[in-house]
Amino acid sequence: MKPCEQVLLYAAGELKAQDKAAFEKHLKTCPACQAELKFLAKLDEGLTPPAVPERVITQLFARTTRKKSIWAQFKWELAGIAAAACGAFVWMYLPAHQAFNAHDLVAYMNISADDEYAAFAQELTDMEDYF
Ligand SMILES: [Zn+2]
Repeated sequence: MKPCEQVLLYAAGELKAQDKAAFEKHLKTCPACQAELKFLAKLDEGLTPPAVPERVITQLFARTTRKKSIWAQFKWELAGIAAAACGAFVWMYLPAHQAFNAHDLVAYMNISADDEYAAFAQELTDMEDYF
């Protein structure tokens, strides 16, 4: 067997000690065998499934957990909407504004509340798509 034909056996660790020593001597002087061993090593790396880093698992878990607490993420937006609604409600019923056309105001508030809700719902949908 020519030395170059032993490269696969050498890579597989199947050469006897004597043959192995002889091949390693040959390997030092043979660029073709060196290249083939490098290639085989890369192939071996490619076939071995890489271990998933713990950091990645942690991040994935964090994302999953975050999705469940999506309402908590929007607490300031929700608080803002609630505060605006309360403010408008109080303002509408203050005696000084009794002259204001309450019916028109309620209609306007309903429209803007719908818009706000639509924007908010769209944000939620975007978030769902993102995750
Ligand atoms: Zn060789």
